[in-house]
Amino acid sequence: MIVCKFGGSSVADAVQIRKVKQIVESDSQRQIVIVSAPGKRSKDDEKVTDMLYACNALVQQGQSCRELFKKVSLRYTSIISDLGMDVKPFLPVLDEVRQMIDAGYGSEYAASRGEYLAARMVATFFGWTFLDADPQIVINHDGSVNDETWNNLKKSLKSDVKYVVPGFYGCDSEGKVKTFSRGGSDITGAILSRAAQADIYENWTDVSGVFAVDPRLIPEAKVIKTMTYREVRELAGVGAGVFHEEAIAPVISSNIPINVKNTNAPSDVGTMIVPSREIDGNPLAGISAKTGYSRLSLRKLMLFKKSGIRHALLTMLHIFGIRPSFSLFGVDSIVWFFETSQASESVLNAMCLRLKSEFGLDSIGVDHGYAVVGIVGAGVMQETDLIAKSTTALANDSIKLHFFNYGSSDTSILLGVDASESSHAIKSLYKALF
Ligand code: ASP
Repeated sequence: MIVCKFGGSSVADAVQIRKVKQIVESDSQRQIVIVSAPGKRSKDDEKVTDMLYACNALVQQGQSCRELFKKVSLRYTSIISDLGMDVKPFLPVLDEVRQMIDAGYGSEYAASRGEYLAARMVATFFGWTFLDADPQIVINHDGSVNDETWNNLKKSLKSDVKYVVPGFYGCDSEGKVKTFSRGGSDITGAILSRAAQADIYENWTDVSGVFAVDPRLIPEAKVIKTMTYREVRELAGVGAGVFHEEAIAPVISSNIPINVKNTNAPSDVGTMIVPSREIDGNPLAGISAKTGYSRLSLRKLMLFKKSGIRHALLTMLHIFGIRPSFSLFGVDSIVWFFETSQASESVLNAMCLRLKSEFGLDSIGVDHGYAVVGIVGAGVMQETDLIAKSTTALANDSIKLHFFNYGSSDTSILLGVDASESSHAIKSLYKALF
């Protein structure tokens, strides 16, 4: 059987939802459908999820979301009537959602209603069974999937019933609605795929697969035909969109292949994501970059003389909310790169002062504006000239390299560059390596 997840653009309006129905009905194996909330219909349009977060923000400021919620209601009622369905049964449901947001049920509850309403609407249109993700999917504090989920779904799912399930949310261990991180409907799709032991997990979006590089930067970029779970994780980890990096975890233990496909071009084969692949002739999968990194550099003569110093420093960083992504160690120095969004300037200043006095550092400083470019591929360690080619390409284009991470993963090479140079670096590397 096949589990299909349709993203926000696939359910953005009635025309898209009709395409979804046609796709689903064209193969009787497609038995479970997961939907996102309606996304943008055009570049300047608003996502329902963003509107719902805005509704909750108003309530947090002591105002009612009644007016703003009208836009959300209109989005659904116009889709419902364009689909030729009766709007009346949905009106009390919409009203109840609005009341709950106004009653202060919080941002995760508000945001989750985008998917909840979409799934109810699509289930009615298909004539399928609506299966709510809450309380089936139990989400831990850190956003990981609680093992209770598997028992819950095992009990609920019947092999002869077709289901529509809302993506993006479940509940916490106290039964309160909890969302995954943004784009998390991919995770719900992976969870249902594992629970139903699907033969394949189809992830339907508005592009014909995962591109080797962002086509906005390189218009002739190709879709990757086959890639491994690990390649997807590494590429998503350095900012590539399309597939949520945490959505691999649920399917990995059952080896369920994922097929990323295009709702607007269903006959395109898309990208197959599988446990492993042949690398001959195709060592690399893609290149991507993520901006928004800062650098913390500290120095002290004989820094490492004292045992446990790294651990002690890291503990202090954690106290200030910093979780470094990359580390470099010199003879008497340490450099950590971390995501800039983790702390404000005043927190960073306080942290530097504390570290300096507590550890007697000779110097400490933070600077911002870095990007990490990832060259991802199952064959990166086999290609002996890959480093030479990459660094030569950057040098020829006068792009300064701030760090180089090779060998910590057998599937990627990471290069630190100035954030302002990240697109330039991607283009330069793509030209040299692909
Ligand atoms: N609707 C949610 C978001 O906008 C989740 C999703 O689309 O997967 O992030």
